[in-house]
Amino acid sequence: MQQDAPASAPHVHLNLNVRGLGPSATLAINERSAELSAAGREVFRLGLGQSPFPVPAPVVEALRQHAAEKDYLPVKGLPALREAISGYLERTEGLHYRADHVLVGPGTKELMFLLQLVYYGDLVIPTPSWVSYAPQAHIIGRHIRWLPTRPEDALGVTPEALEGLCREDPERPRLLILNYPGNPTGVAYDPPQLEAIAAVARRYRVLVLADEIYSGTRFHGEHVSIARYYPEGTIISNGLSKWCGAGGWRLGAVAFPSQLGWLRDGMAAVASETFTSTSAPIQHAAVTAFRGGDWLDDYLVRSRRVLRALAAHFQGVLTDAGATCAPAQGGFYLFPRFEAHRERLARRGIDTGPALCERLLEDTGVATLPGSVFGRPQEDLSLRLAYVDFDGAAALAAADVEPDAAFLQRYCPTMVTAAHRLADWVQV
Ligand code: GLU
Repeated sequence: MQQDAPASAPHVHLNLNVRGLGPSATLAINERSAELSAAGREVFRLGLGQSPFPVPAPVVEALRQHAAEKDYLPVKGLPALREAISGYLERTEGLHYRADHVLVGPGTKELMFLLQLVYYGDLVIPTPSWVSYAPQAHIIGRHIRWLPTRPEDALGVTPEALEGLCREDPERPRLLILNYPGNPTGVAYDPPQLEAIAAVARRYRVLVLADEIYSGTRFHGEHVSIARYYPEGTIISNGLSKWCGAGGWRLGAVAFPSQLGWLRDGMAAVASETFTSTSAPIQHAAVTAFRGGDWLDDYLVRSRRVLRALAAHFQGVLTDAGATCAPAQGGFYLFPRFEAHRERLARRGIDTGPALCERLLEDTGVATLPGSVFGRPQEDLSLRLAYVDFDGAAALAAADVEPDAAFLQRYCPTMVTAAHRLADWVQV
């Protein structure tokens, strides 16, 4: 029986914007998977999107060397790191963001929260979008506008959808978050698409946050940013979590065009009153990561080989099983939809995305996340899988050449099994 709070307990009134909010879905599925594993269940951890690869050795070494750094660093970040990030954007994407226009933080997630807090406007995101953009807006009390998407556009933002929304109220301030390669689909935009979206954003003076956290994992070819077409209105975010395998180190950064200095300074002011500055040893190590070198190029070439082979494997198995799934161009996600199985699944009592993932986990041990946590309707039979549950160090070391089926079977056997279990289960 639940005990009443003693009369002396403090009044607790939850902020209305936080009432009913649970833990973030990505972190919740990770913890649940860990509990199930600890209890002896066989679990394929395709829930949390965490890089399978180790942090590159030179970056770990830099961290070791700076472990004794203990002073608070400048709020906006270590000058050498801000230089290195500016250089990284120049080198990898041909973009000119000045070092003093870069703001470093404990993960881009925190910086995005600050951005939404400091910028006053509606949040515009496509359905599906990463799990935390909308809750952050909700916590702060911003309006969330979901952009409708279509399978034939790989569930991405189109200039037409953005135009349709902006036309309703042309002068309204808006923040569009464009994430590519995207979470949860792995899909990126090509230059003509980016140019067309940029033209609409400029026409309606929409602020764009280009969430490029997966840029370094781009499977083929170079990553092109929307900032190329809309430099004055684009803030770029990136960090160590994905391409550098260091999610748990919590280091991210945002780069602002000179026109948006007021926004950067507003965010820095709030940063100074909240997280103060980012961990000193991690910032020193991040200088090495963002400066890069042949060792990083080699690491990225190998990681991309493994990731694209896995994406192709899942894509093939799922498509053969009747799922619809846009081909990924980077990152480590796929977002299959099982509309073709709706009747068959309904006979098993499964008619929503959450039921699909729950039963899949119960029956097969494959942990995924339903499309609904990414803003899809409950009844959407979609899910996100993150193909990251394997020994990344061994796979990386072996990826001298393009991985074939035998390579995947040897170095990523759990992923091969998970793909087949999912495909067999959905076709029962
Ligand atoms: N971005 C990762 C994901 O979508 C994990 C980190 C997080 O959500 O905070 O799974």
